[in-house]
Amino acid sequence: MISPEYAVSFRWPEWTPNLARADVTDAGAPTVASMRTFGAFVTVALLLLGCGAPSGPAGGERSGGVRSEPSPSPTAAITVGPEPVATAVVVVIPTAELESLEQSPTPVRDPTPPPVSESSAALAPPPTVTSEPDDVRRADEIPTGDARPDLPPSDYRGDVRALRTQNGVMLPIRGVTADKYLVVTPCYNLDSVTGGLPISGALDVVIDPGHGGDEPGAVGPNGLKESTVNLRVAELLRSELMDRGYSVELTRYSDHRVTIQSRAELANALAPRVFMSIHHNGGFPEPFPVVGTEVFVQLGDPESSRLGGIVFEEIQSAFADVEADWMGNVETFGVAWRQNDEGTDLYGVLRRTPDLVSILTEAMFITTAAEADLLAMPDILETEAIALADSLDRWFDTDDLGSGFVDGVVFEGDLGNGGGTEGCIDPPL
Ligand SMILES: [Zn+2]
Repeated sequence: MISPEYAVSFRWPEWTPNLARADVTDAGAPTVASMRTFGAFVTVALLLLGCGAPSGPAGGERSGGVRSEPSPSPTAAITVGPEPVATAVVVVIPTAELESLEQSPTPVRDPTPPPVSESSAALAPPPTVTSEPDDVRRADEIPTGDARPDLPPSDYRGDVRALRTQNGVMLPIRGVTADKYLVVTPCYNLDSVTGGLPISGALDVVIDPGHGGDEPGAVGPNGLKESTVNLRVAELLRSELMDRGYSVELTRYSDHRVTIQSRAELANALAPRVFMSIHHNGGFPEPFPVVGTEVFVQLGDPESSRLGGIVFEEIQSAFADVEADWMGNVETFGVAWRQNDEGTDLYGVLRRTPDLVSILTEAMFITTAAEADLLAMPDILETEAIALADSLDRWFDTDDLGSGFVDGVVFEGDLGNGGGTEGCIDPPL
């Protein structure tokens, strides 16, 4: 429900904010108010272990994307920025986590962004001086308490919306000073960095690989982590979409934790036409005649629903000829919304991106033996990625409505879905 207090260790010379925040809405013990079956509750509760949410404005051409040139810097012709220095808490991800299966993928293509090296002209020079970002100043006004409230909305309006660091960490920007970018880290801390690959906004698609780091999500009987599969599918999807001419970024490029707030802030900053969170389902479903795909869409958003319906059709079609001991939930099979007791989207990544067309996909169940084995096969992941890319093509280019819509479910209280700030350790930036 409400995470324990965390005092943010970020220090900025002039503001020295002593922030305290809480992930109020994305973690906590659930109380199901209206569900058809307890089994459905178990399933949803499990799948929620580590989900998040963001959004942004729709519209725009296939433009934007990674910039190869530096951000505006009229007073300094810097081609190579100074050595980036992460000034906030930097902790190495436990080795055990790095030894997960996703450390040894066999990329079909190379969706991983090129590392940003000091010798690369892509390094963003320090931005020129602007006034202190109002949003950061206001951070001082956040009361310290038991909760870690969200950061105040950012007033930053620069062209460069985010940075991809040398370590492949995505950082939404909140402001600039004479020589640094003020950013939000994956653990939703304020920090400052001096370089990175600048990314402008208005992307076509931002893909959100669910979970990561010490939050693996669901785990298959074969030991396969959902976080690993989510990232691999996201990488394949990004590669496929870029081949088709879209501008695409991921919310994470490696196995590290990202809070829901940070996923949402990044997505909102990049303002994609579509924000798609990739997950694979958990729980204890029943034997099912077809793949038990579930897609979650935003409440009252016809374009989110339309995309969800198309994704459902494409996933069903893609795996229609795959022989497997499929399992699924009769009650939740299909496309639906999930509502909390405040009348908004239950899932943070959908709720926190109200201006974006956002969906959350659960293509199949990683917790079932047969499907976990399928998800360990590169061809299956490629098939899923192609299906998702085809879905986006259809959504962009047609008026198709999709199908598979079922009744939504209303929950009371908060579901513990991970993605909160509690215990979050930022990766090296
Ligand atoms: Zn998940």
